[in-house]
Amino acid sequence: MMSTLGRGSQTIETIAVIGAGTMGHGIAQIAGSSGFRVLLTDVDRESISRGITSIKRNLAKGIQLGKLTEADSERTLEQIHGTTTLTLCAAADLIIEAAPEKLDLKRDILHQLEVASDRQFIFASNTSSLSITEIARDSKRPENVIGMHFFNPVHIMRLVELVVGKQTSDTTVETVKEVGRRLRKEPIVVKDVPGFASSRLGVALGLEAMRMLEQGVASAHDIDTAMELGYNHPMGPLKLTDLVGLDVRLNIAEYLHRELGTETFRPPDVLRRMVSEGKLGKKSGAGFYDWSRDKEEFGRTHSS
Ligand code: NAD
Repeated sequence: MMSTLGRGSQTIETIAVIGAGTMGHGIAQIAGSSGFRVLLTDVDRESISRGITSIKRNLAKGIQLGKLTEADSERTLEQIHGTTTLTLCAAADLIIEAAPEKLDLKRDILHQLEVASDRQFIFASNTSSLSITEIARDSKRPENVIGMHFFNPVHIMRLVELVVGKQTSDTTVETVKEVGRRLRKEPIVVKDVPGFASSRLGVALGLEAMRMLEQGVASAHDIDTAMELGYNHPMGPLKLTDLVGLDVRLNIAEYLHRELGTETFRPPDVLRRMVSEGKLGKKSGAGFYDWSRDKEEFGRTHSS
């Protein structure tokens, strides 16, 4: 099976994914399983192997749960080809960049691809916070640059946030929207503003929950339960912060506070204190909940 997109948008047959880490391997997996030809690149062979191993593990889990067949899994893997030569990716119709969150690195990758080929590829960055307009600043074809923000784990989370830079063309938006649907995601279109839509709302809720905890409004468990049972959120904001990492949330809050200049994003004292004490959430064994006894289970409420 081969996926092709056309009509009112650019034709996309091959997708290159840059970076085979947490996000990149997941993006390569869903692209392969949707029938696109996939080129997966990273800086060395080990990183690519690790990415492919993670894809195989996800597919095996899918088979175990009865969501996939052996044949589906084989078809997906056949579509994915690894390479350490970045410039080969310029032959793809759509390049999804999932390299580390550094502006200069992302701009350099785009520059190398544009030097390698004059082809009209679309360059979509999976950045979770950087400005798409800034990534495209020195691009030869800024109209072809867009944000394609997937969520972790990519093969499970349904949202893809399309971030439209100042010069991104309508054709690019439409093309990437169609690709998003073909990848079985729900695309939303967002302006290139700090925090896009998802982080801005999600972080605002998390920080307000922390302020409520500081003020003794309710326990962490009860604040989370208010959102889980009262608003049908699958997970309360404090538990989610524990999973994301308090250090990660603090960085984003500081960035949004600086960029948007509203008090909503001023990091609460409790967040700064817990990060300085090494209470980073699930990964450190302690956050708003105690994760030390059973890392997979939702732990006891953190009392301090
Ligand atoms: P990661 O560290 O797991 O993976 C990054 C990969 O990129 C690594 O395998 C690394 O070797 C590779 N890499 C480094 N330099 C490269 C280069 N020059 N060319 C090709 N590959 C290179 O990072 P991640 O968590 O997958 O994040 C990737 C991007 O996705 C970041 O921009 C991040 O902000 C964004 N993002 C992450 C998440 C998340 O939950 N992890 C969610 C949404 C968006």
